[in-house]
Amino acid sequence: MLMINRTNMNQCCLCKSKKSQIEYKLNHYQVLTCQKCGLLRRDIQLSPKKLEQLFSPLYFTKEQKDYFAGQFSTRINSKLPRNQQFISRLNIIENLVGRKKKTILDIGCGSGTFLKLAHNRHWKTLGVDLADYPVKFAREKFGLKVIKKSIEKAKIPSHSFNAVVCWDVISNFQNPDRVFQETYRILRPGGIFAFEVAVVDSLLNWASNFVYYTTAGRINRFTQIGLPFQHAYHFTRSSIRQLAKKHKFIPLKTENDEMDYRYSSLPKQFLPLLSTIASIAKVIGKTTRYRMYLKKPD
Ligand SMILES: [Zn+2]
Repeated sequence: MLMINRTNMNQCCLCKSKKSQIEYKLNHYQVLTCQKCGLLRRDIQLSPKKLEQLFSPLYFTKEQKDYFAGQFSTRINSKLPRNQQFISRLNIIENLVGRKKKTILDIGCGSGTFLKLAHNRHWKTLGVDLADYPVKFAREKFGLKVIKKSIEKAKIPSHSFNAVVCWDVISNFQNPDRVFQETYRILRPGGIFAFEVAVVDSLLNWASNFVYYTTAGRINRFTQIGLPFQHAYHFTRSSIRQLAKKHKFIPLKTENDEMDYRYSSLPKQFLPLLSTIASIAKVIGKTTRYRMYLKKPD
């Protein structure tokens, strides 16, 4: 278990309010609700050293090994769902960017599979990531250029990229507001910002809330899974759209999606239940994943 010095995340990244109340008491952390805008956040701020411990090699090779299946292989298996998704997202981005000279930045690029796919399609690529293990892989095995720093400290020139992507890491940032600000600055006018984020206005979260509240928080296992410790913020479709709007991005396309739970690192006995919930969630639009393709104004 990671030892934590409690430093409070005392301000909401979206509305800047400092007023919050405890929403969920989980095993070694709490999730707060912003009293002004309702955005959920972890109560703890993590130091760079703690972040490094959290995203240690074990996180990628053991704790989340199914989620990262195939991501640490130089032979990119296009049959894996995650890689298939990368290819279809790249197709969408290429359509939106058009014929312009193509430069792409991946914030939280991990082992670099997405960037390698883009590189193979003649994009000029750059990655940014904090975790040592995947950065080493991306550099040494794929030969990619990756800056091992936070996006705020990476000093990327303004107006230098046609596209910026951020797959499944916005929730991990302790200040997503700054990430949107930096992305806007880095993008060329008319550039595309595409991201996927875990959202909590989902059927799965509704079900785990039902268990949590009807047992007065005594059964918190599902909530713990749905609001994992590595997520500093828990957005809804509405709150992430508000953040995009606040930074003057123009939404071009949105997509609801659900995880392929065969490739999640959740206990396998939950698989049939999770798959059933996921199928219903897709039909009613209450999935756990949300993608946005945004444009910086021309
Ligand atoms: Zn707020």
